[in-house]
Amino acid sequence: MVRLLNNKDAWLWDVNRQKGLSVNYVKKALIFDRERSHLSKFEWSKWVPIICNIMAWRGNLDRLAAKVNLKRRNMDISSVLCPFCEEYEETVNHLFTACRLAIRVWADISASCKIQPIFAFELKDLMDIHNAIQSGKKMKKIIRGLIIISCWCIWKRGMTWYSTRSGEVRKIF
Ligand SMILES: [Zn+2]
Repeated sequence: MVRLLNNKDAWLWDVNRQKGLSVNYVKKALIFDRERSHLSKFEWSKWVPIICNIMAWRGNLDRLAAKVNLKRRNMDISSVLCPFCEEYEETVNHLFTACRLAIRVWADISASCKIQPIFAFELKDLMDIHNAIQSGKKMKKIIRGLIIISCWCIWKRGMTWYSTRSGEVRKIF
């Protein structure tokens, strides 16, 4: 697929094969990328603290600093096991959906709110579960907020300190 020409070498901007780089092309590329990603799909809950929304949004993109993600970034972590069950690796989806602590939290929320049982395989499922609930718009907003706040509580409770070669790093996001 490579064609060699006698022309002088030049940089091409990949968006539309234009020569040179311009702010306008960068802007177009960012907007295009944003529309393809989950950024525009994440629905923010207006009644929960912003930090809970940010955590859920990052988790939805699998950009939370779960132990497996930190290990992938070459952080020196002694164990990647989940702090709650200590049986499985701490991934975003394990923490919020598969861990027995999370399963209990969702069972308690569905029982307290008198809604059908909450089953989720990924954090994305939890973020969409309110749409499957047969109730009014207000109740759906309440359920979504409760799920986001519960995710924040699970995440915050699982926060630990990790020793690294360069010192100590706290898992925040
Ligand atoms: Zn676990």
